Amino acid sequence: MDYSNLKAQDKEIFSNIEKEVKRQTEEMELIASENYVSKAVLEAMATVLTNKYSEGYPGKRYYGGNHVIDDVETIAIERAKKLFQAEHVNVQPLSGSPANAAVYFAFLKPGDKVLGLKLDHGGHLSHGHPVNFSGLLYNFVQYEVNNETGRVDMEMVERIAKKEKPKMIVAGYSAYSREIEWQRFKEIADKVGAITFADIAHTAGLIAAGEMDNPTPIFDVVSTTTHKTLRGPRGAMIMCKEEHAKKIDKSVFPGMQGGPHDHITAAKAVAFGEALRPEFKIYAKQVIKNCQILSDELSNLGYRIISNGTDNHLIVVDLNGNGFVGKDAEQVLERVGISISRSTIPNDPNPPYNPSGIRVGTPAVTTRGMKEAEMEQIAIWIDNALKNKDDQNKLKIIKDEVKAMCLDFPIPSI
Ligand SMILES: *Cc1c(COP(=O)(O)O)cnc(C)c1O
Repeated sequence: MDYSNLKAQDKEIFSNIEKEVKRQTEEMELIASENYVSKAVLEAMATVLTNKYSEGYPGKRYYGGNHVIDDVETIAIERAKKLFQAEHVNVQPLSGSPANAAVYFAFLKPGDKVLGLKLDHGGHLSHGHPVNFSGLLYNFVQYEVNNETGRVDMEMVERIAKKEKPKMIVAGYSAYSREIEWQRFKEIADKVGAITFADIAHTAGLIAAGEMDNPTPIFDVVSTTTHKTLRGPRGAMIMCKEEHAKKIDKSVFPGMQGGPHDHITAAKAVAFGEALRPEFKIYAKQVIKNCQILSDELSNLGYRIISNGTDNHLIVVDLNGNGFVGKDAEQVLERVGISISRSTIPNDPNPPYNPSGIRVGTPAVTTRGMKEAEMEQIAIWIDNALKNKDDQNKLKIIKDEVKAMCLDFPIPSI
């Protein structure tokens, strides 16, 4: 990208952007929710489409001059429909949490009962956390993962659904590494007359590539971010059955939001175009393969992986047996240039701000082109850094090695 104007006009911000470019270039990104967009996606975001107001939808705007924006938004919608076999798509949600707010707002009244995964078992803040709008406005009841298998306990889902008669059942998580039984959820929901809502924020790219099961043809409504495995701009979308189309559109605008971010809509369209290509399927396959290698290697090094492995792009590692908590591990790994996120584990004995585990994901390193051999090395570095947390010399050596590998695998958009 040409940043010459920014550089000349605002040195303060430009120098920080330069620092962040350097940080991303030299450090290992293992945060499961992050990725690197392509140059084309980045370029689409940095366009004059940001200047436009276009409240409403293609062909039905509340402002003039929208014929170009109408085309852009329609292309984004059509590509998303194709990617997920969706009947209806709304590409305007600004991010994952506002998209979920729009879904709840479309189907629920304050106080209505919703069944979702318990948060320390892998759910998201917007699935009923008491400090989040979702937990404040709606009455969330919770199912859990089985303590032995680390997988969602579908019998518990059915038992609680029958007892509580929720108006909506939510599936799709932030820290869960297994396939989700979408069909089974649908059958349970049908028995109690609940709306089925899938939040595929994390796995959307893997689903689009056909590497994980797709809930869109089964569920009433599906939300996703566009910036995680889907590798698009920061944003979100909602997909639903045609029968819910009006409700969802009304809920997004004028219900929750004002004008859409048209430059982001363009970048979403570009990212969807990329995800429709055969290369993206190869990418998604490699993301999962890489994560399975990382999981096996860490397991061999004596770490307990929740559910003993993974079907997707992330693992949750329980550090209780290794004399660590998640926050300390996060800090030690940051010192060697490896970014991961602390994470609760199911039935965590420690509090949420200092949980027992870490969540590690492979979408970003796979975008850099890293494969099996690099995953084996990363597992060794993680283990070495944790075991030598007070040895500044050893940590410095690991940091240099991490940096050298990162420089060998440039980020596509830099
Ligand atoms: C990341 C995530 C979200 C929220 O997305 P934001 O864009 O950060 O608001 C919602 N649901 C799930 C399951 C997520 O993982």
